[in-house]
Amino acid sequence: MNNLVRALSSVLPGDRISHDEAVLAGYGADSATPPGSMARPSVVVLPSTVEEVLHIVEIADRFRIPVTPQSRSSNIAGMAVPVQGGIVVDLRLMDKILEVNTDAAYAVIEPGVTFHQFARVLREEGFFCHLPTAAGGSSPLGNYLMRPSGNYAAKWDPDPITSLEVVTPRRGIIKTGSASFETAGWRSRYHCFPDLTGLFTCSYGTLGIVTKGAVKIFERGEEERLLLTTFDNLPPAIEYMKRIIRGNLAESVTFWTWGWNMFHEMMRSKSEQIPEAMLKPDQMTPPPGIPFGIASARLNGYREVVQAQERACIRIARDLGGNHLENQEASERYPGCYGYLHDYFVEGVHPKPGEESQIRAGLHLAGCLISAEPSKVIEIERYMRAIAEKEFKPPYFYRVLPYSHAREFFLAFVVYVTGSLIEEREYVQHLKGIYGNLYRELLRRFGGVMFRYRKDPMFFGLTGTYGSLLRDIKGLLDPNNIMNPGMLMF
Ligand SMILES: Cc1cc2nc3c(=O)[nH]c(=O)nc-3n(C[C@H](O)[C@H](O)[C@H](O)COP(=O)(O)OP(=O)(O)OC[C@H]3O[C@@H](n4cnc5c(N)ncnc54)[C@H](O)[C@@H]3O)c2cc1C
Repeated sequence: MNNLVRALSSVLPGDRISHDEAVLAGYGADSATPPGSMARPSVVVLPSTVEEVLHIVEIADRFRIPVTPQSRSSNIAGMAVPVQGGIVVDLRLMDKILEVNTDAAYAVIEPGVTFHQFARVLREEGFFCHLPTAAGGSSPLGNYLMRPSGNYAAKWDPDPITSLEVVTPRRGIIKTGSASFETAGWRSRYHCFPDLTGLFTCSYGTLGIVTKGAVKIFERGEEERLLLTTFDNLPPAIEYMKRIIRGNLAESVTFWTWGWNMFHEMMRSKSEQIPEAMLKPDQMTPPPGIPFGIASARLNGYREVVQAQERACIRIARDLGGNHLENQEASERYPGCYGYLHDYFVEGVHPKPGEESQIRAGLHLAGCLISAEPSKVIEIERYMRAIAEKEFKPPYFYRVLPYSHAREFFLAFVVYVTGSLIEEREYVQHLKGIYGNLYRELLRRFGGVMFRYRKDPMFFGLTGTYGSLLRDIKGLLDPNNIMNPGMLMF
């Protein structure tokens, strides 16, 4: 330990290295960590340049000590918890927006940049970024590396990243995409050779540390609108979303069930009190006067086009049995929900502080994020509902959204655990047990894939030769398996 700290002190100033117990404790858990299972890192370092990151990784490799990178440590699935101890590389000081290229529509950012910071700068330029319904203090680069869920620019594609700079234990600094050529800039993910940007996405820090990334940005346009439509059940809502995304009629669209919308009301009011209606045993029938679900779409661009798009969306919704919910009516009847959706889909800001304070107050969202084809999402919803009725305590709810011209849908099913994790320890363990077996069933029955799912060698084993190739690549980049070990498949 002393030798490790001495080696780190040769490449970093003392105030950016800590092995103080109180500091380390803050890095040992996130909201998904069951009570009593906190990890114990040995040291936390805060680099500010790529060269410092390189030195840290070289030292860790020499000492064969695990390294866990954290951009903002805001994921809620235990992915950045240093389960095998070692060095936590906290990247929050690498927080520069290095370039905003409005001409070619991309920006180059460091991992410590937050959504709040990035969205504000882009707004001044008349642009926006892929924006998930994540916390505003989380990192765009960190989030994009995990694939954003609840994406603002879903019409385009779910891959916001073009080029990356990555520090690896055995191959040093690697640049991917167009940035791999010294003079080609950062604009493009693909060039004349195979795509390596994709190798580092969804690798959760197991292959290297991303120190820079170029990400796509989008013009806001003359007009930005929130279009709300209500549906009585999921199938017509899915059909609606498919049609409007395939038809290029909306930038993005999400269907939120009533429990989620009441949760938005709670978030806006910053109340920590769950409304009685949310706790009723039959979670699939909304309380009187509340729609089963609301689809919220973001429309933006040239004024005449947006007006026409809105008319077309309303017609499609009505053809499918849905109803248009005017903004004025929504703001009067469901002010918190409307405020949340408006802030997010029109203003492009993260309306999350309420949720964060509730999570800190002991409320816990156990989420299950599943990707599947549209028709399978309907079957998965039925399956999840049956499990929920048997195993979950209310409230539980879900949201569904399409990606990439509706090729792929995401269903995010959440169980809202009320009460502290200590009091609800057994229930949380029970939930984790259910989720732990779920991925196999979802894959087998529906071809659905659970995302941001923590290590399970069986899951990885299901990938066949893909898995063996990935292991070979891992061996080239990180033969001592120091990068976030125990995280995913290594
Ligand atoms: C209240 C709340 C609500 C949320 N809602 C959503 C939501 O709706 N949609 C959504 O998509 N997310 C949501 N999130 C999750 C969260 O915002 C994202 O997961 C987050 O953006 C990624 O977090 P981060 O950047 O802080 O990465 P971290 O938590 O620091 O890390 C996440 C993973 O990526 C790895 N990693 C991080 N940075 C690097 C790097 N530079 N190089 C290599 N590996 C790295 C880590 O080792 C870890 O495995 C929510 C979080 C909170 C707290």
